[in-house]
Amino acid sequence: MERNIKELVSKMTLEEKASLCSGLDFWRTKPVERLGIPLIMMTDGPHGLRKAKGEEVGIGDSVPATCFPTASALASSWNRELLKKVGEAIAQECLAEKVAIILGPGANIKRSPLCGRNFEYYSEDPYLSGEMAASIIEGIQSKGIGTSLKHFVANNQEHRRLSVSAEIDERTLREIYLAGFEIAVKKAKPWTVMAAYNKVNGTYCFKNKFLLTDILRKEWGFEGIVVSDWGAVDVIERAEALKAGLDLEMPSSGGLGDKNIVEAVKNGDLPEEVLDEAVERLLKIIFRGFENQKDATFDKDEHHKFAKEVAKECVVLLKNEDDILPLKTDSRIAVIGSFAKKARYQGGGSSHINPTKLDVPYDEILKLVEDPSNVLYCDGYDLESEEIKEELINEAKEIARNSDVAVIFAGLPENYESEGFDRENMCMPESHNKLIEEVAKVQPNVVVVLFNGAPVEMPWIDRVKGLFEAYLGGQAVGGAVAELLFGKANPSGKLAETFPKKLAHNPSHPYFPGEDDKVEYREGIFVGYRYYDKKEIEPLFPFGFGLSYTKFEYSDLKVDKKQAKDTDTITVSVKVKNVGNMAGKEVVQLYVRDVESSVIRPEKELKGFEKVELKPGEEKTVTFVLDKRSFAYYNIDIKDWYVESGDFEILIGRSSRDIVLKETVKIESTQKFRKRFTRNTPLGDLMEDPVGSEILSNLLEQFSKSSPMGAMSQTDPTFFMALLKYMPLRHLVIFSRGLFTEEMLEDILEKLNG
Ligand code: BGC
Repeated sequence: MERNIKELVSKMTLEEKASLCSGLDFWRTKPVERLGIPLIMMTDGPHGLRKAKGEEVGIGDSVPATCFPTASALASSWNRELLKKVGEAIAQECLAEKVAIILGPGANIKRSPLCGRNFEYYSEDPYLSGEMAASIIEGIQSKGIGTSLKHFVANNQEHRRLSVSAEIDERTLREIYLAGFEIAVKKAKPWTVMAAYNKVNGTYCFKNKFLLTDILRKEWGFEGIVVSDWGAVDVIERAEALKAGLDLEMPSSGGLGDKNIVEAVKNGDLPEEVLDEAVERLLKIIFRGFENQKDATFDKDEHHKFAKEVAKECVVLLKNEDDILPLKTDSRIAVIGSFAKKARYQGGGSSHINPTKLDVPYDEILKLVEDPSNVLYCDGYDLESEEIKEELINEAKEIARNSDVAVIFAGLPENYESEGFDRENMCMPESHNKLIEEVAKVQPNVVVVLFNGAPVEMPWIDRVKGLFEAYLGGQAVGGAVAELLFGKANPSGKLAETFPKKLAHNPSHPYFPGEDDKVEYREGIFVGYRYYDKKEIEPLFPFGFGLSYTKFEYSDLKVDKKQAKDTDTITVSVKVKNVGNMAGKEVVQLYVRDVESSVIRPEKELKGFEKVELKPGEEKTVTFVLDKRSFAYYNIDIKDWYVESGDFEILIGRSSRDIVLKETVKIESTQKFRKRFTRNTPLGDLMEDPVGSEILSNLLEQFSKSSPMGAMSQTDPTFFMALLKYMPLRHLVIFSRGLFTEEMLEDILEKLNG
């Protein structure tokens, strides 16, 4: 295949090669009929297929496809196998529609709860985000359909998304914003990666060689093609983008980008070999995509049923006071809120799907109760307006008063969150909040079901007994919620993001969305729980939190080594038992804490998780394998991941704030990393270095007698030691009155830096 492709490239004219580097239209690559090079089609995803009808560009009418829960919901399942299966199902629908590549998943980090596309992203944590992205990619690609891991990188807001520069220090970029992409690229090998709209540290992603070539290809070994986000490329810089590593410009720019490439080759600005390499990569993917096309169909009903299974695992039970849930099927139930009849199940923008079917939560509830006449309904609020409508609230109070329990469906209306803009605050509409407050005044048993793509503030939280976060759960979320309400299914979702009590608690808050075309990520690595933990801020609901109708007990945490080198792996095992009386699933979470560190580190970081299914009384052993990256931070001096020798705690938790077991291991670094010493290095730093401390004690012995400081070492030893600690090496020259010479200083520096 490789030789054939090289041969094919050698037969192509410069113009044909350039033509392959941009789209034919909105969704397809260009064919070269003369040489039998076919075209392939790519369309949007990623929680279902959005194949435009014909040449259609807008979001409106696409071919019907199964709408699965969006990424923020999927990540709450913490279930790799489930995401693989979702990927397989989506791929089947791609096959049926002759689509070669689906544009997703999105692995951007949720830096702020306000980002309009948070519903399309997995988590605030790069490990969870990377694992989820890798799983869905593996599922999709196992069926011969390609993916596009997007939006690479630091596309964490919609505000000025085509002109803003995300200003990020390298450690933060590596540890938080790149790490999820790195996991997905290395583990799942996506066919394509999509370069984001924005700039990173001043350079647009579409022409960012550091990101597209140095990191993505050279460091991570990515072999696929880099495609631009739609319209990201500035055509006058098309050749420069190609040089930086961008293979395919999408959509078509009507030949302008191709012309720019041809001219650049002709005038010597772009070596033809660079173009040839991009064309080789493109041809590999185009042929792979084309050859994988088979005649396929999918069963809409089966996929709908599966979408319900998926949604059930994604919903998070956040509150269950007095075990109000599950509800009894013979209770008198007031179902309140327009969302109960018109669920919000997906977000707006390019991921918007035309569903094959749609569950109505209210209808699904009726199917599960003993006597439908025991279920009363009213709208509670107007979906078309934000105005508080007293008559709707009064009606809601009336039916709530006459029931055993009120189930209120609320959340964020469609126009609150979408691709294209960010939210301005974390509030639900006043009409929803007021409704909950008012109903809770007349009915002590209130259960709230939320449909929203990202966290909201909950001023009413203390007045309700039950709370489900159902996110945007896809076309079958109605059936899933109904089963969870009545205990036909046991909730097992856990939050993949922190819900702060209020927006101002979020670490990015003072800096979001930036000034003009610059957004500085001043919170650094302290994103999500890394920040709330460090600042000891109590969140409304912590990262990793979610309740079940059963109880799990943890025991027997074991590590296979108490001491290890950073090149070793450590196997950790722990037992989990279902001690309740309903079958259920638990997400066992493993966090690592560096007990003492010379650099600033989070209190703990997620480094492993497994979801286990347990029958009542059943116990299973869960195993994790930790490696160097589980303990490392990104060291900007050596430009590598580095483990500082010392103790690390391995924490097993039900959530990031509910650690149940811990063990300590000692890790020894095998990387010979020493700080560079300069004439300005404080003597205290020498004291901490084995070579340095020896040199220093000799020096002090030699010079303390002859320098004025010598006397001080006798009269005020504490102050003397404090002075010494922060004194730069160069001070030895002045304070020894020339006995310690510049040459001697040079000599010492050479020894230290050896
Ligand atoms: C979005 C991408 C999407 C593309 C094609 C862009 O505006 O950012 O996520 O895949 O359009 O619709």
